[in-house]
Amino acid sequence: MIKVALAGQPNSGKTTLFNILTGARAHVGNWPGVTVEKREGLYRKDRTNEAISIVDLPGIYSLSPYTTEEIISRDYLLGKNCDIIINIIDSTTLERSLYLTTQLLETNIPLVIALNMSDELQKSGKQIDVKLLEKRLGVPVISISALREEGINELIEAVRKNAKKKRKARTVLENSEISETINLLEENFRSNEVVEPLFHAIKLLENDEYEIKKHPEALKFLKNSEFKFTSTTFNDDVEAFIADARYRWIVTNLEGVVSNVTKEETTPSKKKRKLSRTGLADKILTHRIFGIPIFIAIVFIIFHLTFSENFLFIGGLLGEDFVTLPGTAFEGVFGEGGINSPGVILFNLLELACNSISDGLASIYKGPEWLGGLLFDGILAGVFAVLSFLPQIIVLYFFISLLEDTGYMARVAFNLDRIFRKFGLSGRSIIPMLMGFGCSIPAMINARTLKSEHERVATIRVIPFFSCGTKAPILLAVSGGIVQYFGVGNVDVIVFSMYAIGVVLAMITAIIMRKTMLKGETTPFIMELPPYRVPKAKALFIHLYDKAKHFVKKAFTIILVSSVVVWFLAHFSFNWEFLEDSQIEQSILMNVAQLVRPLFTPLGFGSQLTKYGWVFIAAAVTGLIAKENAIGTFGTIAASLAAAGLITIGGDSDVDSVTAMIQLTNINLPALLSFIVFNMTTIPCMAAVATAKAELTRKQFIGTIIFWLAVSYVISSFIYLIGSWWWTLFIILAILGLAVVGYFLYQKYQNNKVARV
Ligand code: GDP
Ligand code: MG
Repeated sequence: MIKVALAGQPNSGKTTLFNILTGARAHVGNWPGVTVEKREGLYRKDRTNEAISIVDLPGIYSLSPYTTEEIISRDYLLGKNCDIIINIIDSTTLERSLYLTTQLLETNIPLVIALNMSDELQKSGKQIDVKLLEKRLGVPVISISALREEGINELIEAVRKNAKKKRKARTVLENSEISETINLLEENFRSNEVVEPLFHAIKLLENDEYEIKKHPEALKFLKNSEFKFTSTTFNDDVEAFIADARYRWIVTNLEGVVSNVTKEETTPSKKKRKLSRTGLADKILTHRIFGIPIFIAIVFIIFHLTFSENFLFIGGLLGEDFVTLPGTAFEGVFGEGGINSPGVILFNLLELACNSISDGLASIYKGPEWLGGLLFDGILAGVFAVLSFLPQIIVLYFFISLLEDTGYMARVAFNLDRIFRKFGLSGRSIIPMLMGFGCSIPAMINARTLKSEHERVATIRVIPFFSCGTKAPILLAVSGGIVQYFGVGNVDVIVFSMYAIGVVLAMITAIIMRKTMLKGETTPFIMELPPYRVPKAKALFIHLYDKAKHFVKKAFTIILVSSVVVWFLAHFSFNWEFLEDSQIEQSILMNVAQLVRPLFTPLGFGSQLTKYGWVFIAAAVTGLIAKENAIGTFGTIAASLAAAGLITIGGDSDVDSVTAMIQLTNINLPALLSFIVFNMTTIPCMAAVATAKAELTRKQFIGTIIFWLAVSYVISSFIYLIGSWWWTLFIILAILGLAVVGYFLYQKYQNNKVARV
């Protein structure tokens, strides 16, 4: 088995290459910092020769660890874990990328250079003399395009040929002022049986923090030697001297390697035009004042395209009949009183299909009644209620991926960084937070890149406030109910506002935590803006296909099982008697739910609702397993109540389960908004909780659970209170004001106490 490690700068195409070689579908994003864990896979194309395993490492600029990514990558590379390194380089930024290469050369590990993005290089009218570069570097160089799958076989061939060959470490500092000291240190390391002595010798001279910590004895040795570095240009800064030497070496050795191929007169102007286009786009999209409003506008447009039932706000302008197709199965699919957005049309079509399937199956079903109830009201009602949201979730993910792949998301992080800085939050934490819109789990893992422990904990806690894809069904179903039952607003506007509340809440609570319990340094954040790229259809498709598969699989596993459990709890009494649909009042579910109802009264969906108001509580609880489960529970319970003749849903009534329950329980508008926010901000799904548990210490984890419960409870109560009685706003503001003043007074008192001592 040949073990290969992929090392290179962020955004150089490592994950793209990894996916091609292994057939994996790891997340590729056109913004730096997406991969933070190493990932392993097997080369799949040729199974006759010796097997090759490939590890995708997080992107690094240098082997002097500064970030967690760099520590992971360095430890892996130097820990004798691989036979050969593929150093993948974005060939359009050759000079800068070779900085890492000069450090990799200082190890004895066999090395192959993959010059990636050859397609982009070609487009820019440039050419690299691969043979010449190979001679200068002394290691094989292969030109590839990971995106177009070009040069991959040659690369693998080079890997096979060189993996077992010995390579001798070399350094660009060979004939410099410090080469003698390097030799001395190298000898010392070698005699102490340290692997990679040259590498460690240079890192020690570079004053590398990590190195000094790991080899204190070598540092002592260095101090005892007569080494004294003095230079007029660098004073006594060896680190700067070495960095400069590396760059000088690169510049000298690149002479004659890069050349223009296209005719002189066309290239420069074309290149200039392209550059100025990117420059202009960046000027607008990262504008100091307009950057954020543009982002907000873009997100709103996305929500409008995905969720709106009043597309382009043209209302019934085209005449109701134009969109309603009355009397047909498609009535209301394309719109009613307004035109539906593409996302909603897809949703309606799938809902129609689901309903026809349940109705069809129900009409041919001949078994016992209780089993029919379990099958249709329990399982199908729950699963289909969730499943019908698939199109909208996919459309939403489609847009999120588009923002990522084009490189726009990196600009958003850049814009937000400016705001975050003002509040003492690090811009680095924006990346995991924005990832939270997709799914909290990879986002929480990505938070590992944050250097300060306190910052990492605070970030993990607020990640769920960035509403993930599976919360969309709750937002949509309840907003839909609000629009249909109360006749106010537009679904997209409500959903958008809820997302905004989540983001603002995340920022406020993060600031509060960082100023109080979780004080400390912030991770330095330097982000390079990746070039704008046209997203690749195939990668996009694979990503969406995976998301869809995952969602459907969950519907038929977790949601299905939960629906069965809910159905059983609603159809059995405490002495295990089977209950008819109309006897639901004696059920275990209803009795338990009744008991906890008062707890939710301040939130608006507790005791003030009519008899069946507990359905909201039950939904919130099943939502802890998987967020979309909440809607499945509405489906199951509403189906049973409909069978008992208490409500009518589906079919001609055009009422879905959530709207029917709103009607039946008499819940008001503020309480529904409070319900949405509660579900968005409380303990996330089981999988995310497990991730948080793995990423945090026990104490931090317990604190996190309490934080989620407390924040969701308090914020939802505020929303209900202010929404129901607007004047309570003043009372709440007064209490908050007092709390802030009290906190500062307390701080002052503490400081005075310290000063007196
Ligand atoms: P990583 O950060 O090094 O893992 O880089 P990724 O694999 O996530 O790729 C970063 C971006 O570069 C993505 O938008 C890719 O689609 C794009 N990309 C990767 N390889 C190539 C290539 O050969 N040509 C072009 N034009 N783009 C590429
Ligand atoms: Mg990557």
